[in-house]
Amino acid sequence: MPISYTPLSFVALADDCPWHMFLQQIERVEPFLGDLNRWVDTLRRPKRILTVDVPIHLDNGQIAHFEGFRVQHNTSRGPGKGGVRFHQNVTLSEVMALSAWMSIKNAALNLPFGGAKGGVRVDPRLLSEGELERVTRRYTSEIGLVIGPQKDIPAPDVNTSDRVMAWMMDTYSMNQGTTSTGVVTGKPIALGGSLGRREATGRGVFTVACEAARKLGLDITKSQVAIQGFGNVGSVAAQLFANAQARVVAVQDHTGTIFNPSGINPCLLGSHVSVHGGVSGFAGGNSLENDLFWDVPCDILVPAALEGQITSQNAGRIQASLVVEGANGPTTPQADDILADRHILVVPDVIANAGGVTVSYFEWVQDFSSFFWDEQEINARLTQTMLTAFEAIWQVAKEKQVSLRTAAFIVACTRILQARALRGLYP
Ligand code: NAD
Repeated sequence: MPISYTPLSFVALADDCPWHMFLQQIERVEPFLGDLNRWVDTLRRPKRILTVDVPIHLDNGQIAHFEGFRVQHNTSRGPGKGGVRFHQNVTLSEVMALSAWMSIKNAALNLPFGGAKGGVRVDPRLLSEGELERVTRRYTSEIGLVIGPQKDIPAPDVNTSDRVMAWMMDTYSMNQGTTSTGVVTGKPIALGGSLGRREATGRGVFTVACEAARKLGLDITKSQVAIQGFGNVGSVAAQLFANAQARVVAVQDHTGTIFNPSGINPCLLGSHVSVHGGVSGFAGGNSLENDLFWDVPCDILVPAALEGQITSQNAGRIQASLVVEGANGPTTPQADDILADRHILVVPDVIANAGGVTVSYFEWVQDFSSFFWDEQEINARLTQTMLTAFEAIWQVAKEKQVSLRTAAFIVACTRILQARALRGLYP
């Protein structure tokens, strides 16, 4: 082992864990970094990791403790930026990988942010509203040491909503003795949130999917789409595909899978989910065994749930010619290779789902300037930012004969490491 690099010692890393996936992605980009390779180990370790205990009073009078994290992977290009996830399976390795993907995403989109991510290991479905608020406030107070409008700006992710962001903003503000709207994005509009933010990630997924389909010569109005995850990202993308006359033929969430070759109505499905908590039992489609989701005949597949879903086990069965990653890290490196061999185009997460952080950036700018834009302007800027980034990465992929993921990593790592090299090491 060279003296310049020693593996991290404080976290047990399984070979298939998300952080390991990120390390493999970095390995693939190294041959393209030239002299900047001198700095590449910077990306192999987060800048700062905070682990916190989150104790709360439960409604029944007992005290429960939850594990919380905030990881700042890299802040060479600006303050940390990335969501907060509440999920029973959150691990430090996962949060580290998600924070690293945020560094790559923000740099690939050329947003003036570094990468960060947070999480609490809790199943919010088992908490009352009061308990959820207490978890949120205590977690925010604990990570208050490292967040701030100029330091690190959280946002929603899996199982966290604008309601949770409002509590985070209030807690931070109370602790600071100010009203600090810029500390989180994805807030309610009434608290300095941005129009279009809630829909931005799904809209961005749809925007790049249309552009990639155009490049492949695929007519979006005749395409069939399968979507995994029907939360913030998946449901908005589904609606936009349906509005564009594409047919949403399968949807899977944590409760089950539904299939309808004539097309699922996302609006009716949304109403069903808001009443029943999931897609299972929806009358507008037939239920399908979960594993068969991967065999569904379709043109476009949108994984928009959790990481590590497209694996070497199912990548060979996927029927789509285009995979657009709404989720973060849904495809393992081995599955990536299988999809590439099968000439299935993958638009990677770091571009495909960057709509959310792009409008988060607009929200942060609007909060600082206390001047708010209309939704039309936000959506137009979002589309322009996403298409510009997509085209730049498309050209790098063509020029270097690499996948869009490697191309996005080349663009992003070059920007991050140039900034690192220019800043130099302190002291
Ligand atoms: P969400 O909590 O709103 O929805 C998550 C969806 O995934 C739900 O429909 C849930 O049922 C489904 N799901 C969970 N476990 C599943 C499983 N085992 N199998 C199938 N489906 C499952 O979350 P979201 O905000 O829509 O985020 C989804 C993904 O998109 C995550 O990877 C997240 O990191 C990523 N993402 C979200 C945003 C954003 O702005 N919300 C931005 C960028 C990336």
